[in-house]
Amino acid sequence: MSCGLCCKGIIFNRATLKPHEIGFAKDSGLRYFEAGNGEYAFHLPCNLYQNNRCSIYLNRLDACKRYRCNLLKQLANGSIDLEKSKLIVFQVKSLMDSIDKQMINIEPSSEFRQKLAKFLDLQYKNLIIREDSNALFKDIDSFYVILHRYIEGRAD
Ligand code: SF4
Repeated sequence: MSCGLCCKGIIFNRATLKPHEIGFAKDSGLRYFEAGNGEYAFHLPCNLYQNNRCSIYLNRLDACKRYRCNLLKQLANGSIDLEKSKLIVFQVKSLMDSIDKQMINIEPSSEFRQKLAKFLDLQYKNLIIREDSNALFKDIDSFYVILHRYIEGRAD
């Protein structure tokens, strides 16, 4: 299933690196950093996600191989079928496109979650007035509901 929401940083903003993967991370331009306690991680969105897919899929990193979001788990255990899971991913991506186009006060960024966080921060500080009839806020609410209900899942 083509999705990429985890690679695009929609679920997490970082993923861990194994010690033996640091050299590869350096060579491939991953934005990696020391995460404390001698551990390393890389920032998401991942720059190896290109043309709507992982450009190194067969050799992807250990964290990527191990992670399964709730939707993928449900697909694997048969509690949801492929068509429904594709529809959910399509809905999330459509909402992201719609939200992105409507956040006109926020400077353009390829990092959707960062942009959305900035927008919500301005709203929290009352610099953007929330009106529940506003299409943007409806889209943001729907985005979070679908993300929390169907997709997000803890990394092991
Ligand atoms: S290495 Fe591939 S699977 Fe892992 S985050 Fe990057 S694009 Fe996604």
